[in-house]
Amino acid sequence: ILVAEGIHKSFGNLHVLKGASLKVAPGEVVTLIGASGSGKSTFLRCMNLLETPQDGFLEINGRRFGFSQTGAPPRDRELVALRRDVGMVFQHFNLFPHMKVIDNIIEGPVQAKGIPIGEAREHALDLLSKVGLADKADVFPSKLSGGQKQRVAIARALAMKPDIMLFDEPTSALDPELVGEVLGVISDLARDGMTMILVTHEMGFAADVSTRVGFMNNGVMAEIGTPDEILHHPKNERLRSFLNRFH
Ligand code: ATP
Ligand code: MG
Repeated sequence: ILVAEGIHKSFGNLHVLKGASLKVAPGEVVTLIGASGSGKSTFLRCMNLLETPQDGFLEINGRRFGFSQTGAPPRDRELVALRRDVGMVFQHFNLFPHMKVIDNIIEGPVQAKGIPIGEAREHALDLLSKVGLADKADVFPSKLSGGQKQRVAIARALAMKPDIMLFDEPTSALDPELVGEVLGVISDLARDGMTMILVTHEMGFAADVSTRVGFMNNGVMAEIGTPDEILHHPKNERLRSFLNRFH
């Protein structure tokens, strides 16, 4: 469902991604781990073209994007189509503060997909019950806890009916007691067969939900395999010392 191959991305003189690659099959949950600055967020942002790579190619749901130093950037129409297929949830929830929860969720479907408001509301209410917030439709984000905000952000991304969900450290801005409720929603999605790529430092969670774990180091996918292979039988020396920090 997703192929990223040889992705390069620099910011000025800083060469962040140096040929990062990843293939994800439908229904897979792939967790990306790695040290701060190894390029995990940048790689994830390339997958929905929040960043445009300078080399490599990306194929998502049969849409293919090739990149080169001199090539034209993707057209707006292609970006909109791609982002419909790929939902993203960030560390900081990025909800619209001036809109009620329900309006945050229906904004995308109504504005970008032209779904009728009644239908969008119905779907949004379903999604809110799925994330355990059926009673919060008409409140403003400022009245919610961090964990609740993040669950609304997940519902908002799901409202676009994406084929893949990307999560960038969805729990790292949360107080420890709120982490579980958000991870619970993500495991439910995994059980429902949603294809997901997530960056997390929650190793126990990664071991439980992932079909594969990828270790990013210095802008490449240094090692990738089953949770058991990566977390318990790491081959890469850098991966071993990275994991030691969590023991
Ligand atoms: P963390 O675990 O801290 O989130 P990460 O693996 O997600 O780290 P990235 O956020 O991808 O790492 O950043 C990799 C490098 O790219 C860092 O040195 C960062 O400062 C740099 N970088 C990321 N985005 C930009 C940007 N928009 N402009 C300039 N430099 C950037
Ligand atoms: Mg990051």
